[in-house]
Amino acid sequence: MTGTTQIIRRGRLLDIDARSSEPADILITGNMISEIGPPGLPAPDDAIEFDASDRLLIPGLINGHTHGNSTLAKGMGDRWTLELLLNAHPYTGAGSTHEDKYLAAKLAACEMVLGGCTACLDMFAEFPLPSRTGLESAGQAYADVGMRAVIAPMMSTRGLWQAIPGLYDALPRPLQELVDGMQSGPGEAAADICRDALHNWPHDRDQVKLALGPAIPHHCDIPFWHACRDLAREYDTLIQTHLAESKVQALASEPLYGMSLTAFLDQQGILGPDFVAAHAVWLTPDDMKMLADRGASVSHNPMSNLRLGSGIAASVAMREAGINVAIGTDTCTCADALNMFEATRLACTLSRVQGPDYEEWLESGQALKMATEAGAKALGWEGQIGRIAPGYKADIVMLGLDSITYVPLNDAVNQIVFAENGESVRDVMVDGRMVVKDGQVTNVDMEKLRAEVEASVMRQIPARGAARETMEKLAVHVGPFCAGFAAQDFAVNRFVGGK
Ligand SMILES: [Zn+2]
Repeated sequence: MTGTTQIIRRGRLLDIDARSSEPADILITGNMISEIGPPGLPAPDDAIEFDASDRLLIPGLINGHTHGNSTLAKGMGDRWTLELLLNAHPYTGAGSTHEDKYLAAKLAACEMVLGGCTACLDMFAEFPLPSRTGLESAGQAYADVGMRAVIAPMMSTRGLWQAIPGLYDALPRPLQELVDGMQSGPGEAAADICRDALHNWPHDRDQVKLALGPAIPHHCDIPFWHACRDLAREYDTLIQTHLAESKVQALASEPLYGMSLTAFLDQQGILGPDFVAAHAVWLTPDDMKMLADRGASVSHNPMSNLRLGSGIAASVAMREAGINVAIGTDTCTCADALNMFEATRLACTLSRVQGPDYEEWLESGQALKMATEAGAKALGWEGQIGRIAPGYKADIVMLGLDSITYVPLNDAVNQIVFAENGESVRDVMVDGRMVVKDGQVTNVDMEKLRAEVEASVMRQIPARGAARETMEKLAVHVGPFCAGFAAQDFAVNRFVGGK
């Protein structure tokens, strides 16, 4: 793409601040937007022209939190809390080979680009340890689809059953022995693998880069937190963790650390501009201030929080505290569609059950900026993606104005946030390359991918059967224990609409 000049003509360019969508031409040199002007903008004779008449042009949406490894497990659970989902990990990931990991990430990338998402932060999970091959395969999947991604290997040094105070002791002896054999880690090995993978990362870091994903604060021991902190500094990359996602997690912190999870991470030197908290549902005002003071970001994942009953994150208060709040879908086992339009709509509408003062509610334009500019900042690409402006990378989504969502077109920002479900996505450009054209992924044979995915799942069936039995034996203890644990009082309440 270097040196190639393209011009997108006659599209209606969304201006979020002005709430307008006037026709404009966009000149793209290589992978970069070089000039924007009224229709008829001069372009070099050899510029490749793209007619965007009847298209509404918006910046590519940026997904602050997902797990590309879970895509083959979509639909596998129903009434799961976060803890029951974590308890089910050996089941949802059963029998997964490196080839399956590649396919899962590729399927995730296809779903995202088809839904107008051009970049994501993928906390890619492998058990019991990440692997250089698995991470590179996940990166290859995004590169092959043509999407931008930050791959953060999700890692733990202890399992759910050992991490929640009292849970292990509440298990019958045979089940204790069972979970003794299901340990993640060790941390030293995970850190060594990450160092090797960071050092030898084969992909273009401007498109697919590697980060670190210690899963959950108290699922990782302190030496491992320090190893992640040091690696992030050495390789100038970011850290994502699930922070106070559930009330169980928030409650676990006091007996373990004598302080909140956020304060614990701060004490370990983790919080900073390169730190992205996923979920952040059960934060206190002090926690929010700490994150804001350190320049950290949050990925607000409203659908997942609803689906797993984690609660409603205080997105308004987090923004008021000064935190950079991005939006994420989370993964197929808890969201379930990787649909950034849906996540953005929920982020906007759920701000409106947080208080009666409508002036504090998110405006639709603010929600859309969270899904674009705030996401870019969270992913470490601020000033490079998240806007359609000269000097930014050409990550552009073109919505069909023939879609019923825009008939009639009154206020593009409101209609995108409150009504778009991704079905109007016609063309998607990432880094100056068309990755979706007329609603079809350009770089992937979707029929072949479907056949490969279905064959992989067939192969996984025996492993899934055995893992399901184990999961169910544990779930009858884990579910009630955690529900009881979460019945304790906590400093803030993030459940609404109860008795
Ligand atoms: Zn997650």
